[in-house]
Amino acid sequence: MHRGYNGLQALCRFALAASGADLMVAFEADIKGSAIPLSSAPITISQTFQLPSAYLDALDWTDGMPRDIDDIRLPSAILSALGRPARRLLFIPTPVAGAPRSGIILLWGANSPPECDCPFRRGIISSIPLLTDTFGQMLEGRRSARQQRLIQDRFSDLFETVPAAIVVLDGDGRTGLINERAAALLDVAAGRHESSALAMPMRELRRRCRNHEELDTTFQAVIGKVDYESKTLWDLGDRQFAVDTHPVHGDGQKGRIWLFSDVTAQQKVAADLRSLALSDALTGIANRRHFEESARIAIETARATGKPLALLMIDIDHFKSINDSYGHPAGDEVLKVVASRCSAALREDDLIARLGGEEFVVLLPATDAGEATMIAERLRAAIANGAISAGAAAIDVRASIGGSLLAGSIDMLDMLLDRADAALYRAKREGRNRVMFESGDIGQA
Ligand code: GH3
Ligand code: MG
Ligand code: MG
Repeated sequence: MHRGYNGLQALCRFALAASGADLMVAFEADIKGSAIPLSSAPITISQTFQLPSAYLDALDWTDGMPRDIDDIRLPSAILSALGRPARRLLFIPTPVAGAPRSGIILLWGANSPPECDCPFRRGIISSIPLLTDTFGQMLEGRRSARQQRLIQDRFSDLFETVPAAIVVLDGDGRTGLINERAAALLDVAAGRHESSALAMPMRELRRRCRNHEELDTTFQAVIGKVDYESKTLWDLGDRQFAVDTHPVHGDGQKGRIWLFSDVTAQQKVAADLRSLALSDALTGIANRRHFEESARIAIETARATGKPLALLMIDIDHFKSINDSYGHPAGDEVLKVVASRCSAALREDDLIARLGGEEFVVLLPATDAGEATMIAERLRAAIANGAISAGAAAIDVRASIGGSLLAGSIDMLDMLLDRADAALYRAKREGRNRVMFESGDIGQA
């Protein structure tokens, strides 16, 4: 229990004993006379009660003298605590900010033993201003403590309900406070810690990030600075956090807040959107845009490493007649199966994309003419490997393939594509279902 509150009880008991009253109630009351009992003796009154404002307004309580009860209507909570009719009453008003009708009521019941008139009893009555002051101070202290608790509670609620892991470092830089989410993330107990006990797990967490090198660079640059702000993404693999840190100046210069917001879901949506934008809707393999981006990087890498690079263009033979004979949906099915047969026949670093229609392109990094020919042949065979079933139909599919190799330092993607296309055109002209390279006829069925 709060210290001021215990003091209040002690004060009540003392006042009761000293005055010889039968009941004493200390309460806090607002301007409307709505009263909350804070302490009472000899029995506890917990029920709130209403002070009849009529008599509070009408009576002059300032003389501090008990008076007979005849003309005063008392709240039933008080009467029932007294347990018999009241005879005399002393009200000691103790107005405090926010509770102007607070005070202490001392009650003498009917049939009390004859009152002693010893000097001590008279003394307590003459000490009423002291009692008022003391009670007023206690009440004031109790109210501000409660106010503080309320603020503290609100802060705690906020601290724990905000959907973020929060680390707050105090102004002196020595201690820090972390909420439950931060505790779970950093694997330390929630609550207050020495700053040093938080710095370590935070560094640990950063080290576990996939992008820790980039983060290290960011945070290395601010070592020793107190005023920096930063927004970074901490990628823990299965989870991603947007981390915002900035100074908070309260009681010192080193105050700082760290907010970790879990952005895993948003990141996934963004990644899904990115992959949607880069893949072909029908076949699920890369689209032209994805291919062009990857091809440019692959060309640069090939130049930088001096490794060869090959490109294949695949075009399904007589695809128009497949559509015509079996219908457009069957044609779509053929495209999907061709894409998956090719993907299965390729290596991990190869990239197949659908350029449009029934045309595919394959990028073969670190692959020379000999290997590229073998792979092209493998693809041609894979495409033709078994009739493709679409509905009731079993469709035989063949394809022609044209290839080109990266050459010279001025060779560009467009030129590579043009030469593969020219080779493909020759493959078609020479009878289809075959592989041709820009350097000449390499293989056929
Ligand atoms: P070739 O052997 O000379 O390549 O003959 P082809 O019939 O395959 O060539 P052409 O380019 O004339 O025909 C391609 C056809 O592909 C024409 C078009 O209607 C069809 N097509 C294009 N995109 C799609 C698609 O997404 N789904 C289906 N089912 N057909 C498509
Ligand atoms: Mg075509
Ligand atoms: Mg075709």
